Amino acid sequence: MKMKLFYPMVERESIIVNKMSELAEHEFGIALYCETCDRLEEVDPNDWLQQGLPDISYSEMGFKCGECGEKGQKQIYPLVDGEMEMMAH
Ligand SMILES: [Zn+2]
Repeated sequence: MKMKLFYPMVERESIIVNKMSELAEHEFGIALYCETCDRLEEVDPNDWLQQGLPDISYSEMGFKCGECGEKGQKQIYPLVDGEMEMMAH
C-alpha cells in the first residue's frame, strides 16, 4: 500500500526579522513565556521602540521572569492587523 503524503509547500518569502525595528516593520510580536509560573508576557516591538528602548535583536533580549527570576522562553509571532493575536496555551 502506497501512502500518499502531502507536503504543502507554501513558499513564503523568507524574511529575516531579528531587530526590534525589523519585527515592527514586518509586524511581529514577541511572546515571553515562563514555564515555571505559566506566565505569558507579550512585547510589541512598536511599543518597545516608542518607549525609546534600544533597537536590539530579540535574540539578545534577556528575559527574566518577574515572579520567579527564571529565564523565560522567547518566541516571535506575526501580529494580526497590528494587533496581538491571543495565543492559546
Ligand atoms: Zn516565573
